[in-house]
Amino acid sequence: MSDKTFPLKLPELTALSAQYPTPFYLYDEKAIRDHAKRFVGAFKSRFPSFREYFAVKACPNPFILKILASEGLGADCSSLPELILAQKAGITGENVMFTSNETPEKEYVYANLMSAIINLDDISHIDYLEQALGTLPELICFRYNPGPLKDGNALIGKPEEAKYGLTRDQIIEAYAQAAKRGSKRFGLHTMVASNELNPDYFIETAELLFTLAVEIKQKTGVAVEFINMGGGIGIPYRPDQKAMDYDYVANGMRAAYDKIMVSAGLDPVAIFFECGRPITGPYGWLVTRAIHEKHIWRDYIGVDASMADLMRPGMYGAYHHVSVLGKENAPADQVYDVVGSLCENCDKFAVQRSLPRIEKGDFVVIHDAGAHGRAMGFNYNAKLRAGELLLRPDGKIVEIRRKETEDDYFATLDFTALGRFVP
Ligand SMILES: *Cc1c(COP(=O)(O)O)cnc(C)c1O
Repeated sequence: MSDKTFPLKLPELTALSAQYPTPFYLYDEKAIRDHAKRFVGAFKSRFPSFREYFAVKACPNPFILKILASEGLGADCSSLPELILAQKAGITGENVMFTSNETPEKEYVYANLMSAIINLDDISHIDYLEQALGTLPELICFRYNPGPLKDGNALIGKPEEAKYGLTRDQIIEAYAQAAKRGSKRFGLHTMVASNELNPDYFIETAELLFTLAVEIKQKTGVAVEFINMGGGIGIPYRPDQKAMDYDYVANGMRAAYDKIMVSAGLDPVAIFFECGRPITGPYGWLVTRAIHEKHIWRDYIGVDASMADLMRPGMYGAYHHVSVLGKENAPADQVYDVVGSLCENCDKFAVQRSLPRIEKGDFVVIHDAGAHGRAMGFNYNAKLRAGELLLRPDGKIVEIRRKETEDDYFATLDFTALGRFVP
């Protein structure tokens, strides 16, 4: 079971919304910090050189990155603007992992200037990188795609259908080539799951990588100095799901490490994760207000946010818990579709959901929106995306990103040129 709570009481939220009208995202700094300590602590106690690289794409706000950096987290980036965000938050050098794919040359150049760890997605990228940089970096990492050796999960699909990574034969060849062409330090990476709640899945992935590391050593002489497990740890979006037991995963991984790595003489090797979802997901909420209700074939509540602010329900049919502030204990005796204003019928935050009776003006809170939430937003229908607020540990609330305005939407247009334009 996972509790679906919200850190503010109704009068506090009412006062807040007078200053910052809904919709907005709210993040809870203390909850993010407490969880980050617990997550890192569980793995660090079994793997002393453990590091978590927060996947910036999950919540690309530099204020959040700065908080995470102060808890010792690095950043996992996959584009130039993400590298810049990490840098602005003070995360540089080997605290940045550049796990990208289909990467333009100039992004590799920038990552290399930052001394980020470059993680290549294909064997042909060795040539591409060497050409971009003039020489291969001293430290280099490769992303493994286990293909049919590993079951995928629903969200990311089967590894053999995934576009990422190198095959087993290719990856062994890649280490041999990189070593021959000047690289001196090596890492191994994979990411085969997304939003996975089964802890054994990660232990099995670790076993797979440890076995591969041994094979790489035997066949090429290359000893990797770190193994990056990628992201993919799930969160309990539904109240009846259970959060990942990090101690169980870390224990299982340590046992596999002792059995495979230590006995092969490959200890010490650092273990990394690059999770996004569990780091900020449960500690962010999209706060909306009911502005319409209509009763046709179904009963609808229209809120002031839309799928442009939070795409997951519309895109994947993902469940997000919804609560009505101040009505936590009221009977859930109504069945609603809670919908946004996009001219797309998939713009529904909840479908046929049992909820208390909602009045216009009620705060409708969408839970577990702190990762892959605002970040995935878009501007279709010229919808302007919500801003972001941060609840500090001392109870103060600060704005960490303002709402978009019409001017933001028009920023890429030149109306002066339009005036001169003769159709
Ligand atoms: C998306 C992604 C992550 C983070 O995934 P989560 O499910 O948020 O943990 C990590 N690494 C890579 C390469 C990714 O693409």
